[in-house]
Amino acid sequence: MLDFIKVGNYSYLDAVQNLRGTMYEDILIDLHHRFKIGDYPKFDIICVNSLFTFFWDKTIDTIKFAKKFLAEGGVLHAGGIAATLVPAEMQREVGADVKIHIGLLDKPTDFGKTDDVIIDTLPPDYSILEEIDYKYPASDAYFGYTTRGCIRNCEFCAVKILEPVYKDYVDIRNQLLQAESRFGTKQYLLLMDNNVLASAEFDKIIDDLKSCGFAKNSTYISADEYDIAVKNLRDGFNDRAYINKIVRLYDELDKKLSEDEAGKFYIERESRCLLYVVSATKEKILDLDSIARPLFEKYFKQHKRTHYIDFNQGLDARLIVKYEDRMERLAEINIKPLRIAFDHYEQCDIYEKAVRLAAKYKIRNMSNYMLYNFHDTPDDLYLRLKLNIDLCEELNLALYAFPMKYHPLRDTEYFRNRDYIGKHWNRKFIRAIQAILNVIKGKVGRGREFFEKAFGKNLAEFHNLLWMPETMIIYRKKYEDK
Ligand code: SF4
Repeated sequence: MLDFIKVGNYSYLDAVQNLRGTMYEDILIDLHHRFKIGDYPKFDIICVNSLFTFFWDKTIDTIKFAKKFLAEGGVLHAGGIAATLVPAEMQREVGADVKIHIGLLDKPTDFGKTDDVIIDTLPPDYSILEEIDYKYPASDAYFGYTTRGCIRNCEFCAVKILEPVYKDYVDIRNQLLQAESRFGTKQYLLLMDNNVLASAEFDKIIDDLKSCGFAKNSTYISADEYDIAVKNLRDGFNDRAYINKIVRLYDELDKKLSEDEAGKFYIERESRCLLYVVSATKEKILDLDSIARPLFEKYFKQHKRTHYIDFNQGLDARLIVKYEDRMERLAEINIKPLRIAFDHYEQCDIYEKAVRLAAKYKIRNMSNYMLYNFHDTPDDLYLRLKLNIDLCEELNLALYAFPMKYHPLRDTEYFRNRDYIGKHWNRKFIRAIQAILNVIKGKVGRGREFFEKAFGKNLAEFHNLLWMPETMIIYRKKYEDK
């Protein structure tokens, strides 16, 4: 509720059940008006990025909220995935004064710029991950692309609309160099390519990745986080982020210090108001540097580590089978996990061949997203999951599946929520699958015993599970014991 009082974003109210329309909503709105910060910083250009359409209400609220930060005559742009998929609906709901940007930012003239910089090729600003209150799971990763678009047009997929032109090659080397010099070396490289195996420049891409330190078995020395944070503070690069970061690092350091060192360090921090982020300042942090740095050097050793690459959107099994030489080349980089799409059981032969080829080239750590609730049946999902278990056993693989529920992204009835039910599914079955997935944290790993417990030994047992009350699915052990 504090967040609502501070910023007035209604999605915070919506997060509390049965609050809207009550007197508490009125009280909170009143508090927001009384305590709101009217003195917002003002900007000439604001760009709001949108993600999945099913976060619709939050997205629309956020875009409207951003209007408060516009300077007189300023322009507010809304772009990204939801804006590209349903631009007319977005325009209608955010108002005519917002400019909707459709597609990528891949032209030098985007937003009326007059330089030749292509925004899409710039490295992301990783410092924003230091501004948040929780640890972003992929905070030790670079994000990038080596290709854009896809050669296919699968019915359930939005890539053809989001990135309509297949681009064989995006030079990632410079992005990685720039990111490394500003943010330090990261362990993982998450590549968002939709279909890298279709690229005519595939060999060049693999060579690029190897030259950037991602060759199989290559190692690097982990980054000195304290030094990077201080350097960025000295450069004035996102002070807010790096003040946050340094105070967090002080707390981590504190746990490693001897009792005597900890007592002295506490007094030094306290005398400079550096115990908490709210009172910390850049000047005081730099002032403490001569005391803090030797302690960080003593207790935070840099280590030799291995880099890993993850083609996060998955690889096309059909192209793995078609171009075995490309799988062989993939094995030259430290790929972990190798994700192979497996969206329908009819593709099982191709899928199985692709997995066997990966195993042939000694890639043993694999994963896949499995679409369900589309044209498939529940049995189709079960058989795909079971095939993975069989392959894991036979080929000694670690193969994790992430079943993902299909949502129509442009259907006017369903794009703003997650209510769609596929023609072979019903609400009970969907909830049963979600209950099972909740228990196993969304991923179905190796281990027959575990799988058979979660999904049943055969289709008949699986059907029983689908009809079982959710509470009994979740607390199966308790009910079985009784
Ligand atoms: S192959 Fe993958 S990225 Fe390409 S259209 Fe199909 S689902 Fe989308």
